[in-house]
Amino acid sequence: TTWTVTVGPVPMQLGLGVVLSFEDMTAMEETGQIRRDFVANVSHELRTPLTALLGFVETLKGAARDDAKARDRFLGIMEREAGRMARLVDDLLSLSRVEQDERVRPRELVDLSAVLLQVINVLAPVAAQSEIEVDFVGPESPVQVPGDAAQLQQVATNLIENAIKYGGHGGRVEVRLTEIGHEPALRGPAVQLSVTDEGDGIEPHHIPRLTERFYRVDSHRSRELGGTGLGLAIVKHIVNRHRGRLRVDSTLGEGSTFRILLPSN
Ligand code: ADP
Repeated sequence: TTWTVTVGPVPMQLGLGVVLSFEDMTAMEETGQIRRDFVANVSHELRTPLTALLGFVETLKGAARDDAKARDRFLGIMEREAGRMARLVDDLLSLSRVEQDERVRPRELVDLSAVLLQVINVLAPVAAQSEIEVDFVGPESPVQVPGDAAQLQQVATNLIENAIKYGGHGGRVEVRLTEIGHEPALRGPAVQLSVTDEGDGIEPHHIPRLTERFYRVDSHRSRELGGTGLGLAIVKHIVNRHRGRLRVDSTLGEGSTFRILLPSN
């Protein structure tokens, strides 16, 4: 079975006849409880690497002081933990920026194929580490949408990075760009960006929650892979700002497709 969930201001019909409205969830996010949960989550996410760092500093000052091998190993771990904190702070700043921008519709004309090719180029070495090939399928000519170039680049980066991270070892990630003459969900012409991986797929009950801040299907795995748990929350806000839609299709054991529809006029 393929499960589909759509994120966007309009309630969508799911394959099994369930209707979800994500507008309700955005309204919920404004309530105090969710804000408090967010602060608690951020504190926890920062506290964990910080505790590790402080612990290793103590060890380096004491027991490991004269052990060159242990010192190197601990410094490696400290570097990784500090990197984790830096990524988290960067993502928090991005999230707060895109939330702030959401009211202002971006108007710059962005060539999406150029953005995608650039992102694929940057991520190719990362994909190569897992022997994953990233293919671009799309028109040769520029595909323009009104938007914010830096934010659309971030959407592409987050989705393709996830496809590589959760795509397992070997195989392929397909990035596809399609122009649609009339997209009913957007009541007009649109551009569809889809990112498909050959990973394990996502169990259906997780899908509606993927864009929540810090929501992870497998926390341990996400952390091991250097994830902050904020990537898809950032994607959601950027897509909303562009009056677009995000749709996730996933088949267990086969892989996932993250699809974004953007109005092209
Ligand atoms: P993270 O930093 O943990 O990757 P994201 O917000 O980008 O955070 O994604 C949230 C969660 O959604 C991930 O932890 C992972 O469990 C799941 N996920 C995202 N993309 C994929 C994918 N392509 N395949 C399987 N699971 C995914």
